[in-house]
Amino acid sequence: SPALVVDNLRKTYGNGVQALKGINLTVQPGDFFALLGPNGAGKSTLIGILSSLVNSSGGDAQIFGVSVNKQRNEAMKLIGLVPQEINFNQFEKPFDICVNEAGFYGIPRRIAAERAEKYLKELRLWDKAQDQARMLSGGMKRRLMIARAMMNEPRLLILDEPTAGVDIEIRRSMWQFVSGINAAGTTVILTTHYLEEAEQLCRNIAIIDHGTIVENTSMKQLLSKL
Ligand code: ADP
Ligand code: ADP
Repeated sequence: SPALVVDNLRKTYGNGVQALKGINLTVQPGDFFALLGPNGAGKSTLIGILSSLVNSSGGDAQIFGVSVNKQRNEAMKLIGLVPQEINFNQFEKPFDICVNEAGFYGIPRRIAAERAEKYLKELRLWDKAQDQARMLSGGMKRRLMIARAMMNEPRLLILDEPTAGVDIEIRRSMWQFVSGINAAGTTVILTTHYLEEAEQLCRNIAIIDHGTIVENTSMKQLLSKL
């Protein structure tokens, strides 16, 4: 089955805003996929529904065939989310942040500790693993959020505007790791409002505007039309 199928997905917030107006989308396994759109287009809402943080108002989405509506817990196990804002406790240690994340998934402590070591090493954070997270640089904090998102070894990694307000060096180091994770087989979706960013990394792209998909094509096709 595809990595992601979004089927007529709708979201109307309590205040009446129609953030998603019947979205359809397919992402194939192994893809590096961009979801591009201006502020307010519905990107965070879509990601929120996929990662079970937001309830949809209609339609469904399947992660590797698992319905986010009907099999929420199973769907959550397949997803890793790197949010826009730093949202870990800055007074905790990177090692503990990762191990505690694994705890939410019911991963045994010994395996959690092994994985924390593996991903903190891969993301070049192992020598900071026992420092308070607030001591890390901005780039290290971003990489820590990737390490944390990898703790359940997700088949689909979603990054929400990962480089918003981040300088070029930090971007490069992030993309190095995310590209490696993708090359190792993990499907990656990133949201952005910069085409230049998506262009360099992503093979396929959907453009969302006012809660509607207005384009869904390969990056090559899109660039040849501009
Ligand atoms: P739901 O319909 O999913 O329950 P709500 O409309 O109740 O969502 O809103 C959830 C929260 O988001 C509320 O605290 C609300 O004040 C806040 N909120 C409202 N409008 C916006 C907005 N434009 N952007 C972000 N948050 C908002
Ligand atoms: P994007 O991530 O592309 O910037 P969002 O999904 O955050 O777009 O927002 C889509 C629309 O939904 C916007 O009009 C936004 O103001 C509205 N919105 C987002 N979150 C909420 C919320 N919690 N309550 C009410 N409206 C919201």
